[in-house]
Amino acid sequence: MNYEGDIIRPPSEANSIIIQVTVGCSHNHCTFCGAYKDKEFRVRSDAEVSENIAFAAEHCSRQKRVFLADGDALILSQKRLIRLFAEIKHSLPQVNRIALYGNTKAIRSKSVSELKELRKLGLHRIYMGLESGDDSVLAQVKKGETAASMVHAANLVKEAGIFLSVTVLIGLAGIRKSLQHATQTGRVLSEMKPRQIAALCLMPLANTEIGTQLENGSFHLLNPDQMLLELQELIKNINCEPVQFMANHASNYLPLSGRLPRDREAMLDSIAQALLGNRALVPEEHRAL
Ligand code: SF4
Repeated sequence: MNYEGDIIRPPSEANSIIIQVTVGCSHNHCTFCGAYKDKEFRVRSDAEVSENIAFAAEHCSRQKRVFLADGDALILSQKRLIRLFAEIKHSLPQVNRIALYGNTKAIRSKSVSELKELRKLGLHRIYMGLESGDDSVLAQVKKGETAASMVHAANLVKEAGIFLSVTVLIGLAGIRKSLQHATQTGRVLSEMKPRQIAALCLMPLANTEIGTQLENGSFHLLNPDQMLLELQELIKNINCEPVQFMANHASNYLPLSGRLPRDREAMLDSIAQALLGNRALVPEEHRAL
């Protein structure tokens, strides 16, 4: 497969055929995100994408899922997406599910009927980064969105019948606003009502603005116990329909996963036990992004 730069995909797309249709992220300003810092955003040409689909047709005939990279493949025009989905259907007939990252701007650029059209053509899942439900934190990290604009985007996805997976970031607000960030994030997730929530822990990279802030002392990273307290507050504040909650990414100190609200007490108990020192945390050297 002909990829440009490193390819990032959600853990649950580990077995998917990855087709890179854009390079980088059209926003690329978030202070915590180093994923595409070395890439200038561009849409790959039809020829480049077709070459990769042809490669997949030859070598990936057993894989039934496709993930469209990079950062926000949904930013492609509706016309281009329709053409792309038709080509995937024609060349990879075994594929029954297409997923992609969709940032809020990209989602809002589509109408519900356009999203429904994409769903009918195979778009099964959109991964969206909320990061925080607190507007002051969103402004601080240059997300370029507000909690309200992200709730609006989530509603468009759900109305179109597409599976919505939302990512949030523990530790993003630093120490002073930690619990406020958790409470507001829980509140906004409750409004968004996604089908899946993934809570990652912040790991500042040297090539990011937040990495520089950490270095110069203007940002303070939570210690493992403070991360757990924030996670605890977040879980307490998610009140929505049954949702898969995952805090088992490689960045998490205490891997947790379950259904909310069903497994709330069990997850809170695990956190309490970890805070008491009765459960081992993932050692720093084993954490990763
Ligand atoms: S977090 Fe998402 S929107 Fe922000 S720069 Fe990274 S890929 Fe782009």
